[in-house]
Amino acid sequence: MASIYIETFGCQMNEADSQYVARRATAAGYAVTANAAEASVVVLNTCTVRDNAEKRAYGRMAHFKALKTADPNVKLVVCGCLAEQDRDRMQASAPYLDAIFGTRDLGRLGDALVAWRDGFDDGDDDHSEQRLMLEPIGGQADCVGDAFAHVRAFVNVQRGCSYYCTYCIVPHVRGRFDNRPVADVLRECASAIARGARELMLVGQTVNAYKDPATGADFADLLELVAGLDGLDRLTFLTSHPKDYTAKLAATMGALPQLNPRFHLPVQCGSDRVLRRMNRKYTVGQYRDKIALFRKTCPHWALTTDLIVAFPGETDDDFVQTLALCDEIAFAQAFMFVYSPRRGTPAAHWEQVAPGVGTDRLKRLAAVVDRNVRAWHRRKVGRIVRALVQGPSRKDRSKLAAKTTDNVTLIAPAGSLDEAQLGVRPWLDVRVNEAFTWGCTGEILGIATRYDDLAPQAVDARATIDLIATL
Ligand code: SAM
Ligand code: SF4
Repeated sequence: MASIYIETFGCQMNEADSQYVARRATAAGYAVTANAAEASVVVLNTCTVRDNAEKRAYGRMAHFKALKTADPNVKLVVCGCLAEQDRDRMQASAPYLDAIFGTRDLGRLGDALVAWRDGFDDGDDDHSEQRLMLEPIGGQADCVGDAFAHVRAFVNVQRGCSYYCTYCIVPHVRGRFDNRPVADVLRECASAIARGARELMLVGQTVNAYKDPATGADFADLLELVAGLDGLDRLTFLTSHPKDYTAKLAATMGALPQLNPRFHLPVQCGSDRVLRRMNRKYTVGQYRDKIALFRKTCPHWALTTDLIVAFPGETDDDFVQTLALCDEIAFAQAFMFVYSPRRGTPAAHWEQVAPGVGTDRLKRLAAVVDRNVRAWHRRKVGRIVRALVQGPSRKDRSKLAAKTTDNVTLIAPAGSLDEAQLGVRPWLDVRVNEAFTWGCTGEILGIATRYDDLAPQAVDARATIDLIATL
């Protein structure tokens, strides 16, 4: 039958876009496959936020060309930020592509899928319910979906960004802020819940700057409205900007029990001089004040961040301030990047830090960050935590990977649990045995349908379930 393979690079915005493409494809009668070699349509959803993401996308395009050569009926499609930025270059260098859709053209990609649909042979058309339910978004890229993609739904609340950090390509390829009306967001959340989503993630580049264009409702109001939806299990959101973390939002986050206890608040660096050159719109002191507010209102939550090293003009002294800030704040996780010059952004034209310095600083920063990450993970050892299944572990398919509500990876032997059971009861109660930098290992004691269900096999341990937060 007609089938589609979707490979996703980049951030949660791209993941949300891929889920949209998967839904349009499923509605048009495609099966979503995790195997590119058997697909009638191959979609590569690209990222351009750093140079390595861009290189990988071009590499994958060349790789998929072989599928087209083997079967000229296969349609190859590229979408996402790189497609927006490089449309002309792509058309010239990869004439074998059937279509290129920019970040604003996703609807047209959906229409093309419908138009192509009749051209594919149906064979023994099998639209079984289970197949639709276990809709994987396959691939080997950064943000790939999995056999349990339906349990997590990414709901776009905002497109673009108007903040123009001097290193960042996002406003250039996704445009300025464009907020979705509250009613649209609520409708999409309700339909994701109806499809079996246990965790809703509201996504936007600066999600906490959200403002409903008609009513003026802000992000705190939106969180309250989504949290009030019937059948909602868990709610989370990404990414927030320190400038828009207000006292109202802090109070709302602290008051909504459905929220996952994890807050991602990118600081980028610990030097005021560099923050100013980055156009981040806050000082280190202001960031500290926000963290104090956060710790007061959400005392047991994990705080995670993004950091960039070797930004143009960053001195050793600036960098040492970043190390000190990370040590002081003790992030539960941090995504660390060496600055990557992006065409068309101001910082790309400034004097760059000497080659090699970035890699060296990244190593030194990772040593500090990882120490705190391990400490956060060690707090879970000996406890029973409830985590949402992701699928078989990539390294050992006899084990399952899952994520705790504070976004820590857990790996545990699957035993006799199978996909059909886990599709309906995707919460795992895991006794944590060991902590590492990447996450924790443990053993599965039971499974549950919803986060707040009692765990049959671990009723006695109920008092300690997840809620690491409260322990
Ligand atoms: N909107 C989010 C914010 O402001 O925090 C971040 C969006 S961006 C897709 C994710 C992360 O990529 C950023 O927080 C930053 O750390 C990193 N990043 C963005 N542009 C970069 C660049 N040119 N070089 C290195 N890292 C970059
Ligand atoms: Fe990029 Fe800055 Fe906007 Fe985040 S806030 S998307 S880093 S411009």
